[in-house]
Amino acid sequence: MNVAVVLYTSDLRLHDHPPLRAALSSCDRVVPLFVRDRAVDAAGFAAPNRLAFLADCLADLDAGLRERGGRLVLRSGDAVAEVCALVQECDADEVHMAAGVSGYAHAREERLRAALEAEGRRLYVHEAVVTAAAPGAVLPAGSDHFAVFTPYFRRWAELPPRAPAPAPRSVRMPDGIGSDPLPRRAAVTGVSPGLARGGEREARELLVRWLRAGLSRYEDSRDDLAGDATSRLSPHLHFGTLSPAEAVHRARAAGGPGAEAFIRQICWRDFHHQVLAARPDTAVRDYRDRRDHWRTGAAAEEETEAWKEGRTGYPVVDAAMRQLRHEGWMHNRGRLLTASFLTKTLYVDWRIGARYFLDLLVDGDLANNQLNWQWVAGTGTDTRPNRVLNPVRQGLRHDPAGRYVHRWVPELAGLDAPHVHEPWRLPGPERARYAYPDRVVELAEGLDRFRRGRGAE
Ligand code: FAD
Repeated sequence: MNVAVVLYTSDLRLHDHPPLRAALSSCDRVVPLFVRDRAVDAAGFAAPNRLAFLADCLADLDAGLRERGGRLVLRSGDAVAEVCALVQECDADEVHMAAGVSGYAHAREERLRAALEAEGRRLYVHEAVVTAAAPGAVLPAGSDHFAVFTPYFRRWAELPPRAPAPAPRSVRMPDGIGSDPLPRRAAVTGVSPGLARGGEREARELLVRWLRAGLSRYEDSRDDLAGDATSRLSPHLHFGTLSPAEAVHRARAAGGPGAEAFIRQICWRDFHHQVLAARPDTAVRDYRDRRDHWRTGAAAEEETEAWKEGRTGYPVVDAAMRQLRHEGWMHNRGRLLTASFLTKTLYVDWRIGARYFLDLLVDGDLANNQLNWQWVAGTGTDTRPNRVLNPVRQGLRHDPAGRYVHRWVPELAGLDAPHVHEPWRLPGPERARYAYPDRVVELAEGLDRFRRGRGAE
């Protein structure tokens, strides 16, 4: 009897899963393993929303494996030590896992490879599992990654499509392998009340509904804040309950302008992953140093608190920040305008905003979060680093009837559409009827501070 261990990380699914397929085809017994990695928790990634979603994903993966004759084994501790201990326990010949993109993931793979090889076992690391295309699958001449999206997209779109593989019919495990109890969502405290449910089943149902009823409208309505007309697949792509290659494949099969726009967004995800894979330091350091003198001190801290709590006095900013707290998710247009508000209007360091987003976002992802923050802050790959989104114009454009603001900012209930984005324009007595905060800063003053701080006159 030969045995393989499949180490799950950000790929919590059975469908289109190259490591599991490879293990099943080369060994007659397979042990699916997830390690609650202490180093990942210690680095601040064990935020309640993601822990609760993860509990759903692990429970669902376990259920799917049980239907096929197996089950999920959970261990906690140092990932390398736990894998090696399990390999000894079941006398496994090989370990299969998906390639990660972060500096930590690369180091973990190398440590694991060395530890296994020292004992005569092999590690197989499979590419293009957590992304549709592997970082490095397309490269510009003379560089280890693309720094500009459009040429990356052109080359990425030409890659030969990969047909998604079905889930295996059966998974046979060796006897007597112990597991820690799986975490329960109900046991996690501090979870956002409107948090979505996790798990592969949920992901697949959502994808089917999206392809049938959302995709064709996507191109026209993806920026409509109140319409909520995006796929909401991001947490599933983050935890790997949905294969990005399968999402691309099925959208391509559906066809049309909506599908093209959607595939382009999945490519943005791959784009940021290939930047992080080549430049792991950009998780914390500027991709392009703009010699910023970010504001610090009591006033900046108070304004940042107001931003976090959704009381900046700019309704569309506050609405989006309140959506984040309530759902652990925020509309992309909201992410753009709130990040611009923090980094450009308040001129506060993008790392502070990125950390806050990571504390709450269920899809909070080192590649997508840090590099989108850098893109908005102008320290990243945006070719127009000093552009500033005006929150009033953004509100009028992407929430013209004020429905998004009314949904999240009840203090402004009943206020008509243009005023709902500029309540300060109401005459005094009328303004006083709404218990809504004054603006933390006027836009012109904010812009002036940003330009002076960055030297971007
Ligand atoms: P859709 O519009 O339906 O898009 C489909 C998929 O494409 C998404 O699920 C996502 O995987 C990918 N995608 C869409 N837009 C982007 C983008 N700009 N960059 C990378 N991938 C994209 N996305 C995350 O997954 N995790 C994050 O931590 C994250 N942080 C962000 C922080 C900021 C400041 C900004 C501006 C954007 C961030 N995004 C992040 C990107 C984007 O906002 C979300 O992926 C998107 O809103 C998720 O909603 P959806 O699944 O309905 O997206």
